Amino acid sequence: MKVINHLKNISSPTFSFEIVPALRGRNCQIIMNIVDELKIFNPPFIDVTSHASKISYEKDVNGNTCKKVYKKRPGTLGICGVIQNRYEIDTVAHILCRGFNKRETENALIELNYLGVKNILALRGDETNHEIDNFEGSSKKNTYAIDLIGQINDLKRGKYLDEVVLAEPLDFCIGIAGYPEKHKDSEDIDEDIKYLKEKVDAGADYIVTQMFFDNRYFYDFVKRCRKAGIKVPIIPGLKTINHVRQIEKLPKFFRVQMPNQLIETLKKNPDDAKKIGVNWCRAQVTDLISNGFNCIHFYIMNDVQSVVKIINNIV
Ligand code: FAD
Repeated sequence: MKVINHLKNISSPTFSFEIVPALRGRNCQIIMNIVDELKIFNPPFIDVTSHASKISYEKDVNGNTCKKVYKKRPGTLGICGVIQNRYEIDTVAHILCRGFNKRETENALIELNYLGVKNILALRGDETNHEIDNFEGSSKKNTYAIDLIGQINDLKRGKYLDEVVLAEPLDFCIGIAGYPEKHKDSEDIDEDIKYLKEKVDAGADYIVTQMFFDNRYFYDFVKRCRKAGIKVPIIPGLKTINHVRQIEKLPKFFRVQMPNQLIETLKKNPDDAKKIGVNWCRAQVTDLISNGFNCIHFYIMNDVQSVVKIINNIV
């Protein structure tokens, strides 16, 4: 089922999840163990992230420079297929512009359709310095998420990159990313929302937000979106803190603010970071629900236990 149809049917607090493919060579069982813990909450959908390569040149123990490839995690399609078909939980495959050409994207979408996956989160993708030598030219890549939405729309009309005989249309529900504290490349929040609206006008069905630790950013974002004429559902995305070093890491990587009260509490009690993170996130969830946001999306990032504790305390 499409995410947009799930959202229409939600009348009580409901939780969706985002999981990351395991590292290369690891077994899918790692992911299945996570899904086993989450399935009791009847998630309407589970997202599976996607990652392009990143190259780093580093010195080895002998002082020689060697090339290392980070981040690339194939597996999004396969994991979506397993969750969709073995657990019968709808999955959302993250599909990126960066690191992939249009042909790879088309093939991925065809494969997802075979697997019964009906939902795509259309994203530009995190930065990559590995823009791959085998790209056929810049016109063959999607630059912004809106370009990717255009490619998905073409496929919805049965328009493939080549004139394919006997090809049928592909039907997907399209989600997009939103940033309550603005995306780092935007001048200001108004510019960011202008581009967000363009993505919605191009056919996006719903928005999932970047993580935030202060709900006021989210409420302000929703207000601005509605004022700009964005009418699609907006799902808040949350992440639990589980280590004191995330005080620096998360704001730096995701360009989000961490409230002083949270920072001070974590600094004073670093050994209790997980507990503090759970309590903080639980308070955010309770507040969101009391303000009418019944579908909440959790970034799991290998910390399933914290999320289980939060939800057990809410439902
Ligand atoms: P876009 O919508 O393309 O926007 C990127 C920037 O360009 C913004 O500043 C926007 O305002 C601006 N912009 C948009 N359109 C135009 C235009 N036409 N002209 C000029 N400027 C424009 N990353 C991954 O690599 N893998 C994942 O699985 C992943 N999952 C994510 C899930 C969620 C819910 C979120 C919030 C983010 C996720 N990301 C993921 C990170 C995301 O890919 C990055 O934040 C990326 O830098 C931006 O992606 P986007 O789709 O928002 O980009």
